[in-house]
Parts: sequence; structure tokens; C-alpha cells
Amino acid sequence: MTTEELREALMLSPKNGYTKLTDDQRGEMNAYAKRYMAFMDASKTEREATAWAVAEAEKLGFKPFTPGMDAKPGDKIYYNNRNKAVALAIIGKEALSKGANICAAHVDSPRLDLKPNPLYEDAEIAYFKTHYYGGVKKYQWPITPLAIHGVVTRKDGTTVTITIGEKEDEPVLMISDLLIHLSSEQMKKPLATGIVAEQLNVILGTEPLEGEGADLVKLNILKWLNEHYGLIEEDFLSAELTMVPAGRCREVGLDRSLIAAYGHDDRVCAYAELDALFSIDTPSKTAVCILADKEEIGSIGISGMQSQFFEHFIGGLCDAQGVKLADCFANSFCLSADVANAYDPTFADVHDVRNNSKLNYGVAIMKYTGGNGKSRASDASAEAMGHVRSVMDRAGVLWQINTIGKVDVGGGGTVAAYMANRNIVTVDAGVPVLNMHAPWELASKLDCYMTMLACKAIYLA
Ligand code: MN
Ligand code: MN
Repeated sequence: MTTEELREALMLSPKNGYTKLTDDQRGEMNAYAKRYMAFMDASKTEREATAWAVAEAEKLGFKPFTPGMDAKPGDKIYYNNRNKAVALAIIGKEALSKGANICAAHVDSPRLDLKPNPLYEDAEIAYFKTHYYGGVKKYQWPITPLAIHGVVTRKDGTTVTITIGEKEDEPVLMISDLLIHLSSEQMKKPLATGIVAEQLNVILGTEPLEGEGADLVKLNILKWLNEHYGLIEEDFLSAELTMVPAGRCREVGLDRSLIAAYGHDDRVCAYAELDALFSIDTPSKTAVCILADKEEIGSIGISGMQSQFFEHFIGGLCDAQGVKLADCFANSFCLSADVANAYDPTFADVHDVRNNSKLNYGVAIMKYTGGNGKSRASDASAEAMGHVRSVMDRAGVLWQINTIGKVDVGGGGTVAAYMANRNIVTVDAGVPVLNMHAPWELASKLDCYMTMLACKAIYLA
């Protein structure tokens, strides 16, 4: 063999996905990006993503899970976990004791939640106090136009949905930052403390009602909330209201190759799972799509991936087939679909460039996440990685390997460990993104599309 032939035969040589994309695939990719962007504009919270998924699933004939129901090949069943998470299944031709092919993503994203008692007035300005949710760089949130999304359960037990700041004719809300002219001390602080959590106070209004008292601006805001939503101040005690960046997702770059959106992490993988599930016929093994909540704060709680809701759902399907849940889990495979850190040349020093994903190189497969000596990682086996590698290659999915930056620089986790703890073989994979957890994140259309194809390949494996 010549040196050139040897190099070709023996060496790994990743290539930009655009060098491999066919014309047909390019058309499909652009159509997929449009569908994804429409989903994102409708889904800025876990509740909205869950509602969107349930509505689309019902249109396609999915039925809500009830204990005791049948689970025959081709049956389409979903489990709405209290409007905050959802799992969907298409029952396969093989029995559930042979295992399921699962894709698991999360639909919660970092944001600013309102405190239980959020409304106050200071210096004749009305504010909401917030408590950030998930990992945020606090300095990124002031001066970002914000919208309010969520629900309030009123005293009479009825729940009202509130969305303000997304339509063109609606106001947005905003947190102030200090003017540069008086920032000489602030500018000396590290980024972590330049803006602190208790400064993330959202301006609601400045116009006082007529009358006497130090609460006339606050009262005017309460009057507005009462007129529009029937709220009184006490109703905030039974509310889930959250501040998210206002506005629609956008194409980015003169070549339109990227998408900026709030909450790519992890709705970009959630949508990939859904779009793939909705496109397949009855698979060999049961295909399961999970959109979980609470990943950003540790997957805990009733709607998180550690919750027994998953056992209730899959266990119920196993009961219908007269098989054991433990056998189903033992023979299942899970792609833990969550975003990856794309290589950012502007911050090159934190990445191990030989082991980092790059924009446009396809879905990023991760043997492990975690940090500091693989702590908290579900470290996939050679066999599990081999399985994914062959499934991706057989389906023609463009993929690449990823690790979360240089060792000891930081780290992160996903739902993978909680799936693997259930005795399910699990591998991490997802869309590489830039500025993860920022109010606006960037992902490439090509990688989004390849992640959808990856989910499809897993369902059909
Ligand atoms: Mn994530
Ligand atoms: Mn995250």
C-alpha cells in the first residue's frame, strides 16, 4: 500500500457535513429547520412543549395511557405527566420483554422563575423578584427583552395560562443594568458577581394610581392583572410564572446556516425525537420518546427523569403484554438526547480540539459527560458505543464524537445516568450548540437535521 492508501484505510478523517449532504437531504434539512423553528416559537417552557407534543400526537392517533389498556403492535400511546413532561410510545412488533428503543430529551430550559411573593414597589417602580432556574450567567439577563409565561391557580381552583410579551403589539419586560458612567466598581468584579441573583428584578411598570400611599404603582399593576386575568396578589402563592427571552427564533448567518433560539437546550433534541417518532411506521421494537422536565436542576421531582412516572407508563404497557418491566428495561436501549458543547474558536483554550464536536459535523455522540474524573457520568461501554456507531453508519447519519471540554475545566450532566440506573444501556448524543444556556443559543441546521435522523435510526434499530 502507498502512504496515501494507508492513510485512507487506517486514519480517522472527519469531514464537514456539507461535503456529504445530498441535494435531497439539503431540501429535507431546510424543511425540517422550518418545522423546528415553528415548534420553538410555540414552546418556551416545558408546559408549552408538552402541550404542543400532546396536541400533535393526538392528531396522529396517539391515545392517552390508562392502566389496563391494550398495547398491541402499531398502537400509539402517550403519557402526559401533569402537563410538564410527556412520554410517547409506538408499540413494536416484538414483545416489550425484548426491550424498547428509547430516545430521552428534556424540555425545561434555564430561565428566571418568579418567587412565591414576587410583586413589590421600590422608588415608584413595580417589580417582580425572581429566582433563577438552572445554570445561568446572571449578567446575560439584564437588558434582554423578557416575556412572561406560565400558569396561575386561582383561589377558586381554576388555572389561568398567562403569556405576555410575544406578540408584536404586546409590551416586553426588562431587568435594568447599571449605567457605564457609574460602573467603575461593578466593572472590576468577576463575571460571576457583576450581577447577582437578587439584582434580577423585573420592571413591571411605573405609573401610579391616583390617591395616597407608597404602593400606588404596585396597585396599578395588580389592577391590570386583575382586569386581564382575574388575579389577586395572593394568587402568586399558587403560580408557576417564569421570565424567558421575548421573541421568535431566527436564522443566523448570511448563509442562514444557523438558528438562534431560546432553549435549544434541550428542545432541539426533544423536537428531533418527536419529528422522528411521528414519521415512522410500526417498528420492530417498541419506540419510546421521552420529553422530561427538571433536567436543568438535577432531574429530580415528580416530572423529572428520576420520577417513577416512567415505570408507571412502561410498566403499564408491559402489564398489557403480560411481561415483566425488569425484562423490558434489561433489554432496552436509550439514546440520551441532549445538546453538546460545539467547539468555539473564540474560546479555544477550554476545548480539547481532538475530542470536541464542531458545528456542521453532525450529531455529537458522547461516551460520557460529567466532570472532574468522569464524576456523575453514565460512562457508556465499548459495546454500547459500538452499537450506536453501527446504527448511525447503517442509516447514513453524519455523526461525530464529543467530550465536554478539557479535563477539569468544568462539566455537565444529562438524563443518561438516570436511564442507565434503571438497567437500560444508555449513550449520550445530541446537537452541538454555541453559547449553551445563554438567553439565545446557536445551533446548525445540519446538526439539527442529523440529530432527527439519529433518533429515527435508534427507533428503527
Ligand atoms: Mn440539556
Ligand atoms: Mn442544560
